[in-house]
Amino acid sequence: MSNLERHPQEAVCGGRAAVAVEPVRELLAGAEVTLGPRGNRVVRTLPNRDRRMVGAWCFADHYGPEDLTAHPDARMRVPPHPHIGLQTVSWLVAGEVLHRDSLGNTQPIEPGQLNLMTAGRGIAHAEESPPDPPPTLHGVQLWVALPHAARAVDPHFEHHAALPVLTDRGVTVTVLMGELDGAASPAGVYTQLVGAEATLDAGADTRLPLRPDFEYAALALSGAVEVDGVPLPPGPLLYLGSGRSDLALRADRPGRVLLLGGEPFDERIVMWWNFVERDHEEIVAARDAWMGGSRFGAVRGYDGAPLPAPPMPTVRLRPRGRHR
Ligand code: MN
Repeated sequence: MSNLERHPQEAVCGGRAAVAVEPVRELLAGAEVTLGPRGNRVVRTLPNRDRRMVGAWCFADHYGPEDLTAHPDARMRVPPHPHIGLQTVSWLVAGEVLHRDSLGNTQPIEPGQLNLMTAGRGIAHAEESPPDPPPTLHGVQLWVALPHAARAVDPHFEHHAALPVLTDRGVTVTVLMGELDGAASPAGVYTQLVGAEATLDAGADTRLPLRPDFEYAALALSGAVEVDGVPLPPGPLLYLGSGRSDLALRADRPGRVLLLGGEPFDERIVMWWNFVERDHEEIVAARDAWMGGSRFGAVRGYDGAPLPAPPMPTVRLRPRGRHR
């Protein structure tokens, strides 16, 4: 997915000063963002005004559930666009999305599967609903910032149809990224992190083992889940801080919650549009390359023109100091 804001601003993210060193329970409202000409609504909880990152997780958009039978215009249709310096993590609760990229990969994704695109030094992709989509579209688009040592890796794409699953009474946990309770995802990662989805039956009551050196946050995708005693509906992000060795999850009715965590991301990064870089000049160079048709390659098979980059903001940011 692309950041389809018309006038995105540069955001400085990362740095240990922005990490809570103890367990906290901060309910962070998301921003409702309307994407594209079709007006699809998305709730963006990362970057958040109050917490820009959780570990290396730097972007979280939750979309749907959209009833495509009643609203065919809500089908996903994101034209070719570039990425740099990050991984895109596509995860569906319902529906199907087709990915195409400038390396020539064409890959549908369904619920329970992971599409992971490592942009590294640059890639372009498009995402769209298939011609005859399932009735409901519901999912998340997440980004993971690459650390300095990996930010210029060759772009590559991974599809994981099967992921490790942990089960407890009334609870199923799928590990998308990283490792949880001894279950390790095959997805390639460049920092210590975890992404996992827990589905809870009515009456479920469990504890997930956590790492005290990670910071964590939880995002409800459906139903109602109580996370560390906090009722969490779909919408806000519950920032949990660090210093935890486990996390209580319970549900009176069925629910689904995403757990994001990782070692605090020490480096300062600059995010703008679909790019993660280290300074304003690199953002300008990446934008120029996309508009000039170089560096990213072409996405074949998408019926439509590539997305033009939005205008650069007039305010330039530098990755220094404490920004919260
Ligand atoms: Mn994208």
